[in-house]
Amino acid sequence: MSLMNSLPNIKSLVDKDLQRNLKQFFSAYPSYTDCLEFLCKLVEPIDGFHCKFCGTQCTTRKFGGKTFRCANCKKITNVLADTIFGGKRRIVAWATRSWFLMQGYATSSNDFARAMNIAQSTADLIFTELTYMVLQEMTNMPEIYSGEFRMGFIRRSRETEARMHPVSEHMRVDQQFNYDSTEVQDDSELTESSYEESENQSAQLQLTDAEKELVKQLSAEAIHIDELTKKSGMPASAVSATLTLLELNELITRLPGDRYARKVILKELPQKARDKLSPSWALIDEFIDYIRKYHHGFSRKYLQNYLAAFWCYADRKFWNLATFAEVCSRSSPITYNDVLEYVSPPFVRVRSGESR
Ligand SMILES: [Zn+2]
Repeated sequence: MSLMNSLPNIKSLVDKDLQRNLKQFFSAYPSYTDCLEFLCKLVEPIDGFHCKFCGTQCTTRKFGGKTFRCANCKKITNVLADTIFGGKRRIVAWATRSWFLMQGYATSSNDFARAMNIAQSTADLIFTELTYMVLQEMTNMPEIYSGEFRMGFIRRSRETEARMHPVSEHMRVDQQFNYDSTEVQDDSELTESSYEESENQSAQLQLTDAEKELVKQLSAEAIHIDELTKKSGMPASAVSATLTLLELNELITRLPGDRYARKVILKELPQKARDKLSPSWALIDEFIDYIRKYHHGFSRKYLQNYLAAFWCYADRKFWNLATFAEVCSRSSPITYNDVLEYVSPPFVRVRSGESR
């Protein structure tokens, strides 16, 4: 029996996109063996599998075989063992979720669990482990202060204190970085015109040309003072002195490691003003839209995981079978503890807008 027929929930899915995507997967990989083979292929090195004991090239692996017997030393190698798929039992769910990520097909763990007839916790874990693998690839991407995403922090995690809203997880980070978030705590006070008001405020402050130049160069993305100096073309001493003044006037925020970011509130900025400021605003907006559409919120703890999933979803130029397989083939086993103890850093990595 094909997997498609053994998963009756797929036929009654309300989400037609999810239904179509699952049908597509199961017509390409209709059996358990096909799914297993798919995972083996994902982790296969470019030069093929080799015996774990003597290094001889594998010539004996069968289709869908996660183990093979070495033609030379006769010992058995498990090709999945030292990868993210090592020791996994829900092969079909793992294969499907991996393929979804590779294709940029988004779905919530909730909907996925129901369709695949697996426990919600299993679906969550598969998503978190796969994205944990992907997020480790995000090393050379712009960093954005995690607080900029706080509107999405609506799911609890083990980091959330008892009887507190999930967003409270972030307060500790704010305190740590002395980041003033009071202005975003009351949504009712945010208005469309706040940006103009703050523009007027800047005008009232009568910024010098040097100050204007630095404000122009700064965005929500943290930037190192050296890079800022280079960009502005001003002498380092002037940059440093000007930044101090801007910080006093609460127009910018000083961050650890001699980095600076412009102090702006995401929600109330009119679109045009946001576009002008920095592409990172558009990126944050896109991410929040993606979250609303597919995941219905997340916890601060796993923000970076969702940004990894978003990277797969949005950066279709980068992701394909070859790139995804390369990441899988380099992967190592992820333990439940790795996932449990992971907490998104104060500065999260976001896919660069340029790669689209
Ligand atoms: Zn061998």
